[in-house]
Amino acid sequence: MLTGAGAPIRCKEIRSALPETVVVMDFGSHTQQVATADVPFGLKTSYGWRDLDLAGLNEILDGQRDNKASYAVTPTCFIPADQVGDMSVLKAVVHQANMLRRHDMLVLLPCSWRWLRSTSLPYLTEQIRSSRHPIGLIMQADGDPLERGEVPEALRQLCRSCPRLVLWRTDLAAFDAMAHGALGAAVGASAVLRHGIAPRPDSGGGGHRPYPVVLVRRLLGYHRVATLQDWFAHIDPWTCDCTACKGAALTRFTDNEAGVLAALRHTVCELYGLHDELDATLPGDERIGWWRQQLADAWEYHRLLASQTGTEVSFPRVLQAWRRPIPPALPAAAERNGQDRSGPS
Ligand SMILES: [Zn+2]
Repeated sequence: MLTGAGAPIRCKEIRSALPETVVVMDFGSHTQQVATADVPFGLKTSYGWRDLDLAGLNEILDGQRDNKASYAVTPTCFIPADQVGDMSVLKAVVHQANMLRRHDMLVLLPCSWRWLRSTSLPYLTEQIRSSRHPIGLIMQADGDPLERGEVPEALRQLCRSCPRLVLWRTDLAAFDAMAHGALGAAVGASAVLRHGIAPRPDSGGGGHRPYPVVLVRRLLGYHRVATLQDWFAHIDPWTCDCTACKGAALTRFTDNEAGVLAALRHTVCELYGLHDELDATLPGDERIGWWRQQLADAWEYHRLLASQTGTEVSFPRVLQAWRRPIPPALPAAAERNGQDRSGPS
């Protein structure tokens, strides 16, 4: 998944060089503008903000495909928490997208994590189910949305209830989602791409100093290299056998651009490794069993790390939540209110 102004050109370059690789674009409209029921789609252009009607939306999707995107992704604006309870915007996104009879698009649904609360989850589920296109769900929160109490379980319910759900701009929740029936997921390469962010139209993008973060596969989590260096200050650091590390220590990444890039290479290798393992399992019980084993191993590795280093290493809340039993799928609307559902004919 590519973001930023250079995305169309890079998309074309990558797909021309590696036609088998799935590459798509997310223009990030949801980080810039709040959706309304009248105008749920829009785009920042070099001439300023552009609201998109249906024809405009179609044209933008065509443009992505012209740049060789594997499939087109709607530039949906952000659906905030204060719209929870008011379904009009959510409905407008799905309804307008449903009017496009194309088979090469994914509808982004960038919402506040509050949509996954038990009171609004059935409505979110209903809208996702009524989409004729796959849905890419982005969860926004201040910090990690999966840290919000109800979210891990709600997300599993959504994945079990909506067969064509893709988790977008996420982290290892990708694997929990895919184990529980999600069609796919897009894991962010940097922390800011691992969950949704609320629109800040004026932000020029503050100059963050990069620092290296690595996925520690044994712990099923992302950690700053500085944290690893603290842990392993007095003992041999953990090493990694991925093709980027080839047995080198996970503490070696330096605090500059080259170090950040090398750390990212390691993380991407580990993500592909995890994905290959998931992909080798059969969907359903076998896949869920594989994921539960990863979580059980992670629990043991947290204990091992604590005993090796003599420090307190807490087992993250989200991993605890993923070790809990699986919730049932949500009933379809017809089962819930005893009414017929009027699907597209
Ligand atoms: Zn590695």
